Amino acid sequence: MATDIESVLKEQRVFPPPDEFAASAHVKSLAEYQRIYKLSVDDPEAFWAGIARELDWFKPWDKVLEWEPPNAKWFVGAECNISYNCLDRHLSTWRRNKAAIIWEGEPGDIRVYTYQMLHREVSRFAAGLKRLGVQKGDRVALYMPMVPELAISLLACARLGATHSVVFGGFSSDALRDRINDAQAKVVITADGGFRRGAPFPLKEAVDKALTETPSIEKVVVVKRAGNDVVMKPGRDVWWDDAIKDVSADCPAEHLDAEHPLFILYTSGTTGKPKGVVHSTGGYMAHTYLTSKWVFDLKDTDTFWCTADVGWVTGHSYIVYGPLANGATILMYEGVPNHPEPDRFWDIIERHQVSVLYTAPTAIRTFTRWGDEWPNKHDLSSLRLLGTVGEPINPEAWMWYRDVIGGNRCPIVDTWWQTETGGIMLTPLPGATPTKPGSATLPFPGVVPEIVTHDGKPVGDNEGGYLIIKKPWPGMLRTIYNDHERFKEQYWSQIPGCYFTGDGARRDEDGYYWVMGRIDDVVNVSGHRLSTMEIESALVSHKQVTEAAVVGRPDEVKGQAISAFVTCAAGTKPDDAFKQELRKHVAKEIGAFAKPDDIRFTDSLPKTRSGKIMRRLLRDLAAGKDTVGDTTTLEDYSVLAKLREDEE
Ligand code: ATP
Ligand code: MG
Repeated sequence: MATDIESVLKEQRVFPPPDEFAASAHVKSLAEYQRIYKLSVDDPEAFWAGIARELDWFKPWDKVLEWEPPNAKWFVGAECNISYNCLDRHLSTWRRNKAAIIWEGEPGDIRVYTYQMLHREVSRFAAGLKRLGVQKGDRVALYMPMVPELAISLLACARLGATHSVVFGGFSSDALRDRINDAQAKVVITADGGFRRGAPFPLKEAVDKALTETPSIEKVVVVKRAGNDVVMKPGRDVWWDDAIKDVSADCPAEHLDAEHPLFILYTSGTTGKPKGVVHSTGGYMAHTYLTSKWVFDLKDTDTFWCTADVGWVTGHSYIVYGPLANGATILMYEGVPNHPEPDRFWDIIERHQVSVLYTAPTAIRTFTRWGDEWPNKHDLSSLRLLGTVGEPINPEAWMWYRDVIGGNRCPIVDTWWQTETGGIMLTPLPGATPTKPGSATLPFPGVVPEIVTHDGKPVGDNEGGYLIIKKPWPGMLRTIYNDHERFKEQYWSQIPGCYFTGDGARRDEDGYYWVMGRIDDVVNVSGHRLSTMEIESALVSHKQVTEAAVVGRPDEVKGQAISAFVTCAAGTKPDDAFKQELRKHVAKEIGAFAKPDDIRFTDSLPKTRSGKIMRRLLRDLAAGKDTVGDTTTLEDYSVLAKLREDEE
């Protein structure tokens, strides 16, 4: 077998950066990118040292990198604090009165924090945590709505050197309990609720339930947000306002070793038992700082909106740490995109004059289904750059994003990275890289990817294979919390000395990377190993299909048969004739061998709370098996139940 995964998707459109954009960008041309890239891989230590010197360090490093695969140490011997770099560093400049966070609640309330104000609130809360007994080296769990106190909590923990572990507020109490116990957290920060879909939702009850089985927890801090009645357990539970009452606002940032663990974040678990990914301080800071600056081309005039929840790594790296280290203005929104109407995002962009928007393909596909009339009601001319992350974006959704949201004017940065990588790895630089719809394009400086066969041999142009990273990079995960063996086994055992991403990809004749999704999602049909994402993309390119999930199921003749779950545009008749039409459409787009064997129509697909399709569950369903494995991250159980009912 010449290749491990066949790639069948061919996309020809190319969009060069607009001249005007390129002229003022941080990186202005492909030639400039290539020059920087070459320097960065010829001498990565010099490259990253140069970047790190743009930040503040309490003590310089003795050595940039110590690499004993799979263990890396960056900025060895240095001392720093990322909270200091996100806040204190800006106070001696004009930025102290610049907006750091513009926050909008779902009900429409707005709060703005300047850098000076944010510094004060973070310092007070850090002092409050200290008074509650939190010290450097402790773990603190955060289970919160998208309120400013969430960002403040991250920065306060970082200030003290307490390792934070954010558990997305949509997770169940069981998920919270397991994560608290795995990390042995001492304190939980939560709220009396938040607003979502027009109503307050509870949070504290789930904490109370989880805490019946979490012996490590000593204190709970509760933000007043939603006005829900909550039970406060005396001696354990403290209101946020009381926690910061009468503390001094003078709480200097701890001097931390560059390798000090900044946070633990459990991956979303689309593939099984959650893993506590551990990130460092100094390397993570350099990586998120530089990627924020170059990928989003951040300027002091920008208002940057990353729509992710801080419960995901995207929110850690590109709501909080990266942009604030750059002294940028970020927008943070509490609620859902369709409250009170499906134009909430576009309304926010118009009112706050957002200039850079970073969102997920799943959101974009939802917007296309809601219809163009919603964005068209608003003036989106403040936007100058768009980004995506989280999944491969199918070219049709990319084109819609470009036309309808970006007015054919804004470059799109499709950024590939993972919880484990800490920051962006494959991406266009918007002033430099011509983009192709559906491709994350080229490696970020300092990143050395390769596509290989299962035994580590590089594949040729346009051949599919496994995406690996050959050299260490500063934002890389350092371990799996309490399970260094799993870290070695999961990421470093397949191809010795290289980081194994678990994703499939191909590289085209221009060196562009096309990520094809996780390798667990590959189907093997009559000897063809196909990426399900490519078949999905072919389905979605039919104008009446809004979303599709494709999985393999066992088949005696072909090895595997292709099962497709399809959501249609309003007004489509989901009958056998339409199934035939879709099969023909896939045959035309890819080839007859990729035609789905069965197609099921559904109103929605089972997704994680971060919006990713849980194909693992659909695979079980298609094979007629019961669902096994962890489903605690599933957003809506009823979707799965409904699909199963349809089955019977
Ligand atoms: P788990 O590892 O627990 O199963 P997860 O992989 O979904 O969960 P994340 O770390 O948030 O958790 O997601 C990283 C994955 O998302 C990547 O490995 C890749 O499969 C996908 N991904 C992210 N960005 C892109 C992108 N721009 N293009 C293609 N795929 C992407
Ligand atoms: Mg993953």
